[in-house]
Amino acid sequence: MPSDSQSSVSASADDMVVAPLSREAVIGRLRAAGIAPTHQRIEIAQVLFDCHEHLSAEQLLVRVNARFAQSSKATIYNTLKLLVEHGMVRELFVERDKVVYDPNMTPHHHFYDVDSGKLTDIPAEGVEIRGLPPLPQGVLSAGVDVIVRIRSAA
Ligand SMILES: [Zn+2]
Repeated sequence: MPSDSQSSVSASADDMVVAPLSREAVIGRLRAAGIAPTHQRIEIAQVLFDCHEHLSAEQLLVRVNARFAQSSKATIYNTLKLLVEHGMVRELFVERDKVVYDPNMTPHHHFYDVDSGKLTDIPAEGVEIRGLPPLPQGVLSAGVDVIVRIRSAA
């Protein structure tokens, strides 16, 4: 068992099939972000980082409890808040009452299928955003996110 992250991940950018993170790798990532790796945080982070999807807190809770010991909803929410605050996951407000968590921290945008609720990543390089207004005084841009809402053409 390697003590660090697994090295079988391909360097190819469009290779979406990556090996699951080892528990040691998850602990290393949490520590590097300044988060104390408690048992439950490791379990929650492992499910989130391995899924390569955009999960709501409720979906995450179901998956965590399918794999590991019972976690409470409060623990899931507290851990997600911590991961967001430490820059390990992005919180996406898709629409009212729909918040999902994105483990992909590289800048990117999303297609949102309003019928299925599914989010798909759009690489940031392919999107050009022009005509944004000047920022109010005393602030910096923390990023621009585009959500393209799509529905079946039928
Ligand atoms: Zn995404």
